Amino acid sequence: MDLSHILNHLGEDREQYFGAVSPPIIQTSNFALQDIAHLREAMLDEYHHHLYSRGNNPTVEILRKKLAALEGTEDALVVSSGAAAMAIAVIGVVQQGDHVICVQNPYSWTRHLLTEFLPRFGVSATFVQGDQLTAIEQAIRPNTRLLFLESPNTMTFGLQDLAACARLARQHGIITCIDNSCSSPLYQQPASLGIDLVMHSATKYLNGHSDVVAGVICGSSALIRQIFDRAFMVIGPLLSPSDAALVLRGLRTLPLRMERSRQSALSIADRLANHPAVARVIHPWRDDFPQQELAHRQMSGTGGLFSMLVRTEDKDRIYRFTEALERFLIAVSWGGHESLVFPIAAVYDLPGHDNPPFPVNLIRLYIGLEDPELLWADLKQALRHLED
Ligand SMILES: *Cc1c(COP(=O)(O)O)cnc(C)c1O
Repeated sequence: MDLSHILNHLGEDREQYFGAVSPPIIQTSNFALQDIAHLREAMLDEYHHHLYSRGNNPTVEILRKKLAALEGTEDALVVSSGAAAMAIAVIGVVQQGDHVICVQNPYSWTRHLLTEFLPRFGVSATFVQGDQLTAIEQAIRPNTRLLFLESPNTMTFGLQDLAACARLARQHGIITCIDNSCSSPLYQQPASLGIDLVMHSATKYLNGHSDVVAGVICGSSALIRQIFDRAFMVIGPLLSPSDAALVLRGLRTLPLRMERSRQSALSIADRLANHPAVARVIHPWRDDFPQQELAHRQMSGTGGLFSMLVRTEDKDRIYRFTEALERFLIAVSWGGHESLVFPIAAVYDLPGHDNPPFPVNLIRLYIGLEDPELLWADLKQALRHLED
């Protein structure tokens, strides 16, 4: 993969825009056609023409080309959120009566999609232990249409063997799709392992500046075209040209940001693992990670996200630790420039909600682009609150 070419030039036809280095934001809803013949042609095939920006927009197209190239797929659709990417992809490939197999404890809105939304339209789902291929195999039914993977998981970092899952699914005529947000295309390219559809919350690493919500689905021309026709044009979750331009800008520095977060996170994870207040650090690149061999086989790194299990299960102590941090923002999401802390204890006992399927002493950290020594010093001072 010629990363430098993809990020700096691919899809950018500068001669069309006065040689402008930065692509123009083509902020238009509508496109004028030369004559009736061109209008008729565009109406027949909106996928390949500029007719209306719900379908195609030149600024958005540059982003589509770059993201498809990064994942090594023929095409990509860019949408207004990661959740929209998951929904559009699933709705685009299933029919009434179909069955979906999904890994246990996926991203919460993926779970809602499969447990609450799709059953209303006659699509059922089974959730399986993703690290056991036999569990996936046993869940296959004659009407299974889709296998939904999320590897690594963004709380527990559980992995699935992507090549084995792709082989199994192919044998049964099942489409595979993966939420690849946690790795970015730099550290994992599922299409090269046989996965059909690769999705991201582009809100996270791809944009990387915490100022846009966006999503992407990458896959073969045929599958992307099917999703475009059956779901994207009907539901209309387009990304605005100005947001696409922001994601394009974010992409320029993706490798630099990923490398900085990766190194800082590893060094902080190792130091946390040796701290008396911490029972275990969950980071796929550490030697004590149970699926480390698989991680090294199918990924080339991990970014700034990892979790730790602290020794205390006392929520007040966990809250004191969280609030004592001065350089970590208390927030969901991740993948931006800023470091974050998310204690799972905070979403226990919410009125009207089930408790999350993760232990109460799990704290997720996201290491951003700040000086890692300052972040470590901050963690060290806050960790005292877990002990006294
Ligand atoms: C954030 C996230 C999503 C949803 O993406 P949005 O852009 O917030 O809609 C999906 N999957 C994972 C793993 C995420 O972290």
